[in-house]
Amino acid sequence: MQPHNGGHPATPRRLVLATRNAGKISELRAILEAAGLGVELVGADAYPDVPDVKETGVTFAENALLKAHALARATGHPAVADDSGLCVDVLGGAPGIFSARWAGRHGDDRANLDLLLAQLSDIADEHRAAHFACAAALALPDGTDRVVEGTLEGTLRHTPAGTGGFGYDPILQPLGETRTCAELTPAEKNAISHRGKAFRALAGVVGALLG
Ligand code: IMP
Repeated sequence: MQPHNGGHPATPRRLVLATRNAGKISELRAILEAAGLGVELVGADAYPDVPDVKETGVTFAENALLKAHALARATGHPAVADDSGLCVDVLGGAPGIFSARWAGRHGDDRANLDLLLAQLSDIADEHRAAHFACAAALALPDGTDRVVEGTLEGTLRHTPAGTGGFGYDPILQPLGETRTCAELTPAEKNAISHRGKAFRALAGVVGALLG
């Protein structure tokens, strides 16, 4: 059959994203569409029987690859996964892969942020450099994989500001900005974010491997 949708086959390749977060799915979907790739992106919710994977890696890239491979094996479709966190220079890169559970309980954003601010309370502005980092991995059912990374550099405020975003957004002020990530619009943040950069780089990889 002749391709009839901009050069892509009539049935687009299915790509599964290892997340149940609707925001992440729409962000990657928009990037794949902007790149003109004829792929259908679905979230892990489309496969409710596939269990979540334990993040046993010690780097963002290892964890992203673990999740992508597990999902590709389980579904028989190419799969994408990302792993991200906040890396603080004066803490030697921590919280890093422990960002989501820095204060002990997974996903308690406010407790994580409060603990980090308390730990850094004596640290002056010039030593408060930090960055968000994101690794995004693509794995094919045959075991082929690629991983790309993106970062968002900034400095940490002493007190939270802004109500947008999530996690550590209220304390990370991107370089060249006067606002924190939580004071940016979603579009402004996506344009400069670690995840936006990693996902845009991954779109090129998806095009090369699946296009
Ligand atoms: P995940 O990889 O999306 O699960 O993110 C891990 C953790 O890193 C989150 O729970 C947040 O604490 C932190 N994090 C990752 N990306 C961001 C971001 O864009 N803003 C704020 N916090 C983030």
